[in-house]
Amino acid sequence: MPMAGSEDTMNRNPVGTRRGGLRIWVLVLFAGYAAYYWFSNRSIDPLTGQAVVIDRSISPEQETALGLQAYQQVLQQERPLPADAQVSRQVGAIAQRLIAKIPPVSDALAAEHGLQASHIEKSFDWKVSVLQSDQVNAFCLPGGKMAVYTGLLPVAQNADAMAVVMGHEIAHALLRHGAQRMTRGKLEQLGQMAGAASGMDQGTMQTVMQAYGYGSALPYARSQETQADELGLMLAAAACFDPRESVPLWERMDKNSGGGAQPEFASTHPSAGTRISELEKLMPKALQYRVKFCESAAQG
Ligand SMILES: [Zn+2]
Repeated sequence: MPMAGSEDTMNRNPVGTRRGGLRIWVLVLFAGYAAYYWFSNRSIDPLTGQAVVIDRSISPEQETALGLQAYQQVLQQERPLPADAQVSRQVGAIAQRLIAKIPPVSDALAAEHGLQASHIEKSFDWKVSVLQSDQVNAFCLPGGKMAVYTGLLPVAQNADAMAVVMGHEIAHALLRHGAQRMTRGKLEQLGQMAGAASGMDQGTMQTVMQAYGYGSALPYARSQETQADELGLMLAAAACFDPRESVPLWERMDKNSGGGAQPEFASTHPSAGTRISELEKLMPKALQYRVKFCESAAQG
């Protein structure tokens, strides 16, 4: 029965086309929404002069609340040293010097980009804890809750290098890198939903996501690491620490990184070599900031 066969083919085709059409529509709608979302949440960060996308529904207050929650959890799980221990006092003093220079350094950096600093630090409630642990690590959560692990002490070796690491962590919080990651995660979820709704298979979806830079397991994007390095270095220099100590610090960090989990700030992107050459390029500016903002350096 040749007629039945051709009828079959004729019936199948419109269904296939309809399915293909639907798939394209879902993707077009998603792309449209993603573009709208992207541009309506895009702004220029005054401290870096670079475009950032932060979901406007994620407020600094919300971030601070999340940061505080995470901090309390960490303090319960880890072993914090008493606040009056010698190390706690030393680390606390470094933090205080860095924090004091956030307003003038923010103003100077924003002015370089012809912008005004937003001074997000005004809403921060700073606290620093030293955690007894072999981890070579430190962090600063949104809202200003910081921690330094004792495992970092032998790698940092001196207050200047410690200030470089802590400045880097403070910079991530000031630049709202966490909120940027949350925003990216939100878009990623939407993309996955659109992909699933359009009937795209998992493999194709991943290729598409990766092409757009989504779905990477990396803790911070490379550009965010570079931004944190720069702002952190300027803060350390302005607070009278020696920014040149950042180079031997990264050399020690690199030597120390053989195997095991990588601490956040020693992540493989940028690599130690790239990082050191980028820091060296920033050194003249850091030394200028030191002369400009560090009172004792200006006198000496
Ligand atoms: Zn980092």
